[in-house]
Amino acid sequence: MTTESVDVVIIGGGLSGIYAACLLSQTNKSFVVLEARDRIGGRILSPEYDGFFSDLGPSWYWPDIHFKLAHLIQILGLSGYPQFETGIGCFQRYNGTVQAVRGYAMQPASWRLSGGMMAIITKLEKLLPPSAIRLNHPVCHIEKISSGAQVSIGELEQEPRARFKTRQIILALPPRLAAATILFTPELSHELTQAMLKIGTWMAGHAKFCALYAKPFWRESGLSGQAFSECGPLGEIHDASNHDMSPYGLTGFVGIPAVQRNQQQSIADAILCQLAGIFGKPALQPVTFFYKDWAQERFTATQYDQPPMVSHPQYHPPANKTAIWDATIHFAGTETATQNGGYLEGALSTAERAVKNLTL
Ligand SMILES: Cc1cc2nc3c(=O)[nH]c(=O)nc-3n(C[C@H](O)[C@H](O)[C@H](O)COP(=O)(O)OP(=O)(O)OC[C@H]3O[C@@H](n4cnc5c(N)ncnc54)[C@H](O)[C@@H]3O)c2cc1C
Repeated sequence: MTTESVDVVIIGGGLSGIYAACLLSQTNKSFVVLEARDRIGGRILSPEYDGFFSDLGPSWYWPDIHFKLAHLIQILGLSGYPQFETGIGCFQRYNGTVQAVRGYAMQPASWRLSGGMMAIITKLEKLLPPSAIRLNHPVCHIEKISSGAQVSIGELEQEPRARFKTRQIILALPPRLAAATILFTPELSHELTQAMLKIGTWMAGHAKFCALYAKPFWRESGLSGQAFSECGPLGEIHDASNHDMSPYGLTGFVGIPAVQRNQQQSIADAILCQLAGIFGKPALQPVTFFYKDWAQERFTATQYDQPPMVSHPQYHPPANKTAIWDATIHFAGTETATQNGGYLEGALSTAERAVKNLTL
């Protein structure tokens, strides 16, 4: 087992942690990003097919209101395009019948990113020193020591695989996940633990699909690709294509709760049948199909995230603390944002806050 010493340990390699690392790389402080998964990006995930990147996590940004993200996209040399919304929308009733409805344009306008949202992470990663990111490094224990903190990697109740001694920590993962899966010594107060567990992780209970097609058959019938359904399994569907480039896509969210999704024999077949019922038979034959059930992801969701969230919470730091243990641990991650919490924008603002508040 190795022990390394750095000025700052960033726990979590989602947008918040990776952006915090980029900000830190502009200082003379040493740091590492400890990421539990075998990839960075966290809830951002954009698998590629034939040069097209489908977003199974976030796909939209709102340049009119999310200024930090819009600016970052610009300085990274990336570009976006407005969500396709032209044409007739569809509404599927409980009994499966489909009604044409006037499609609505989202306000403020939603944009998608060329190259998928993962393009942001890929660009940011290139700004970091090669050894800064440690994949397959799940943090299981954070211990307060006189010089700061000791962070252990591995599974609880097993000998740690590695240790890091650090002066300060940026905790860039959902507070609920941190409270439910990481051991803190000394124990966090009951009030703080409860506050962390109460902060629901945005979209953690959801599942999303992307189906790609050689032709946009729905557009050819005058449909926008936007649909809402009362019968499911999909509750909400959108066009996921990039302008007029093949492959064309449909994407959307599974409306049924996580526990019922697990009982579906084949969720993919059920989704394609529903798409065919709404948009026509060509929907049954995608060139590829991607699906991600975030509720099954142990580094995103906990048992508390399994029931679907009914509305977007008003996020804030747990127990209104942006740092604990005499400013040894700083909270980041979108769920600790006071504005735009849950969104990519909140991931950026909390990274900025945490780096600014470091007292090294
Ligand atoms: C289906 C879906 C759709 C969404 N749509 C949108 C959208 O359209 N627009 C938008 O703005 N936002 C959207 N979001 C929300 C957006 O994805 C998040 O706001 C953002 O990605 C959060 O980034 P983060 O870095 O705060 O957290 P995360 O991305 O969750 O990063 C946390 C990181 O910590 C790691 N980790 C967890 N436990 C440990 C541990 N013990 N040790 C080390 N590492 C650990 C995880 O693996 C992960 O990489 C969506 C999310 C989902 C799931």
